[in-house]
Amino acid sequence: MKKAGIKKIKEILLKKRTLVFDHLDKKDKEQVFQFCEKYKDFLNQSKTEREAVLQIVQAAKQKGFVDIDTLLEGGTNNIKKVYKIFQGRCVALAAIGKKLPHLGANIIASHIDSPRLDLKQNPIYEDLSIGLMKTHYYGGIRKYHWLALPLALHGTIIKSNNERLDISIGEHQDDPVFTITDLLPHLAGKTQSSKNISEVFDGEKLNLVAGSTPLGGDDEKERFKLGVLNCLYEKYGLTEEDFVSAEIEAVPSEKARDIGFDRSMIGAYGQDDRVCAYTGLEAFLDSQSPEKTAIALFFDKEEIGSEGSSGAKSNFLEDFMSDLLFISGGNTDNRSLRKALIHSSCLSADVNAAMDPDFKEVHEAMNAAKLGFGICITKFTGVGGKSGASDAGSEFVGNIRRIFNKNNIVWQTGELGKIDQGGGGTVAKFLAKFGMNVLDCGPALLSMHSPFEISSKADVYMTYLAYKAFYNDND
Ligand code: MN
Ligand code: MN
Repeated sequence: MKKAGIKKIKEILLKKRTLVFDHLDKKDKEQVFQFCEKYKDFLNQSKTEREAVLQIVQAAKQKGFVDIDTLLEGGTNNIKKVYKIFQGRCVALAAIGKKLPHLGANIIASHIDSPRLDLKQNPIYEDLSIGLMKTHYYGGIRKYHWLALPLALHGTIIKSNNERLDISIGEHQDDPVFTITDLLPHLAGKTQSSKNISEVFDGEKLNLVAGSTPLGGDDEKERFKLGVLNCLYEKYGLTEEDFVSAEIEAVPSEKARDIGFDRSMIGAYGQDDRVCAYTGLEAFLDSQSPEKTAIALFFDKEEIGSEGSSGAKSNFLEDFMSDLLFISGGNTDNRSLRKALIHSSCLSADVNAAMDPDFKEVHEAMNAAKLGFGICITKFTGVGGKSGASDAGSEFVGNIRRIFNKNNIVWQTGELGKIDQGGGGTVAKFLAKFGMNVLDCGPALLSMHSPFEISSKADVYMTYLAYKAFYNDND
């Protein structure tokens, strides 16, 4: 066969992997960079789930969304753009479509919690001449990532008189920061170098350096602990017992940065999964008034298994959907709710791992996602023989593939690592239990779950376009 003939056949037969930057024209590329400036701002303002909720609601309010809880008293009305915050830690937005929500919704579900170090409930102590605070890590971290790094404290404290205090210390240039000490290489030989990595880094040694000024003379017991407590009392009116009713998260104080001479990537804490939260939010707010009801869900607690009242295993979605049925008129009985959920379609918006040039051996190259090749479709998650997976049906994957191709979305597929290498899960299966179609779909990151995760700006923008195409599809 002639060369030209083979070329044509290859064109027809072979699946293409397209680099987003090969696909975009100059104007599109400018859009990529502009979009990512706003994304970096979002990351800097949303270092915890509670802060992300505030940012999301602020953006929604600016577009005319109202709190659904204020409408429930008044019965039906014509308001179609609503939000619902639950316990300050998760939030849902909905734009009621031309069809009643009873006929199902197009849902994008992301999560806004990220791995971090939480302060313990009795955190403050002293050792030698240093005031310290004990932490308990949250989510899957590599403990050594968190040593010798400037950390900021973000959180909410309920004082004994029920007064609420929100803190953010360590974000401004002139704020103090906190840090966890590490061993100098000169002395690490016996303690660290000869041991297994999981033995070297001990969760109980992730203690924050918090002060070194004593209160009182050298006959005073615990005077460095008292020094820290005295600062907290003078600045914030806090006492030791207040930490019992506090959620304080130590997070990297570094801001989102451009990576590379060409500034083509973003390095930042919390991109898993605020990259999907942000692109999902923007796609939701920018999509046209939909035929079908559009919902954007932003869950908490995904990193610890979606547990609790604000995670995806909770009844939050059912409650929100039932409120939507109520405000749009029509039946609100249990059967209507179940039908609304079963007729919904969902993208579980979460990140996958991009193939790492230095750790190729943990990936299977044919089925691994690569940085810069667009949004990644993950048909199934899980570990080992797909244990604990949510596995999207081929009909729904086909439908999403059609939507993406029709809208010129650059997409790829990805599996999380080689078989039996490890694995993971997302919120997908907790939504799939309602009977709705769910597919995992989001950008791939390098250094995922580290304090400085890397995304490709091109992938971030393509994810936004993909989510928007999903919301706008009416077929
Ligand atoms: Mn995630
Ligand atoms: Mn994660």
